[in-house]
Amino acid sequence: MIMFNCAECQNQECQTRNKESLNPACPMLDKEIFEEIKQAYHTEEIQSFYANSLKSMRGSFGRWTRIKEIMEFCKYNGFTKIGLAYCSGMLREGRLANEILRQNGFIVVAAGCKVGGFAPDELCESYEAPTAAQIPPNTPKQDIPRKNRAICDPIGQAIMLNKEKTEFNILVGLCVGHDSLFLKYSDAPCSVLVAKDRLLNNNPVAALYCHEEKNNNL
Ligand code: SF4
Repeated sequence: MIMFNCAECQNQECQTRNKESLNPACPMLDKEIFEEIKQAYHTEEIQSFYANSLKSMRGSFGRWTRIKEIMEFCKYNGFTKIGLAYCSGMLREGRLANEILRQNGFIVVAAGCKVGGFAPDELCESYEAPTAAQIPPNTPKQDIPRKNRAICDPIGQAIMLNKEKTEFNILVGLCVGHDSLFLKYSDAPCSVLVAKDRLLNNNPVAALYCHEEKNNNL
């Protein structure tokens, strides 16, 4: 089978459920696998979780912020104990998210990324501290490595929240790769509140729009 790439498909037939004139690489040509995929939705647990996601998605359109959407989704699912996995370089944002969740009646267990207080070489055998020349001049103060600084511990964050049996976990600014490890080890389902992008004021989509703008002006 040819490798598919929906982002490069000009027809987008799936969006109108047209399964007749598909391009030769369209994954929908494999009907069997989509039968299996359909089954995956039809367990009691997934049905209600998925229906609630559709409900909060509809409610949010142009009306709710992301944090409101997350909270409404948690309420629809009856989740009361929420895990917050935040980047310690975004302690301010972690604290604000904690406060908002608590003020909205949730029980919050928050784990910062330095949980465990590990030295870098305890978790990463090949770790090398950055030299002064490798640190860009506009690096926020909280991101500048300092003496005795602990290393990020996303597996520890996930395991500590698992231990507390949180029902839903929210990610605030975990770095790329750390977020992957957290998601891999988290027992509870997760959603991302903040995707950190230090250069773009935590608005990573701006880079995509800039790329589009650059292409439009060529
Ligand atoms: S599923 Fe098929 S029709 Fe839909 S975007 Fe992907 S390649 Fe195109």
